[in-house]
Amino acid sequence: MTPGKSGNISTKISYKNRNNILITPSGVSLKHINLKNVIVVDEEGNKLEGHGKPSSELFMHLEIYKKRVEVNGIVHTHSPYATGFSFSGEKIPHLEGFGKIKNPNLNEVDYAPPGSMELAKIVSNSLEKEEVLILKNHGVIAIGIDLDEAAILAEFVESSAKTSFVARILSREPILTHLMHSR
Ligand SMILES: [Zn+2]
Repeated sequence: MTPGKSGNISTKISYKNRNNILITPSGVSLKHINLKNVIVVDEEGNKLEGHGKPSSELFMHLEIYKKRVEVNGIVHTHSPYATGFSFSGEKIPHLEGFGKIKNPNLNEVDYAPPGSMELAKIVSNSLEKEEVLILKNHGVIAIGIDLDEAAILAEFVESSAKTSFVARILSREPILTHLMHSR
């Protein structure tokens, strides 16, 4: 889901009547995250604890927590199938299991440079009514009431992209009505 040193995750915790954000460090593979290198910042992004620098997407995480106060977990991946769909210009269909998401395809936001405040604003504005977004030519972002919910959603996005890809290869046509969410 997060090849190389890509991807970042964060969670919000209340401590001494304040919200702190725990976020993965910049330049470290997610498989090497431990209690010492997780970075603790306040809601403005000031570093409180941890070795190293916070993820370069810190602003994106902070802006989302500002817009969606009930959210406590954020997962950003460069998972290959979902990201591949975005690079190709194809949409990922909304398959069975996405719950609250109503659009036939997962929403995608325009490209903005990774780590930029521009990306942070575009993403946080677009997540006001969504739980998951595709970042054009970049990756996936998923949010949840806790970290586990966000992680499961990010995993489900990748699984949906993979299923859709296989279905297209085998049927030689876009996966649409036969696998779309029915309600
Ligand atoms: Zn990224």
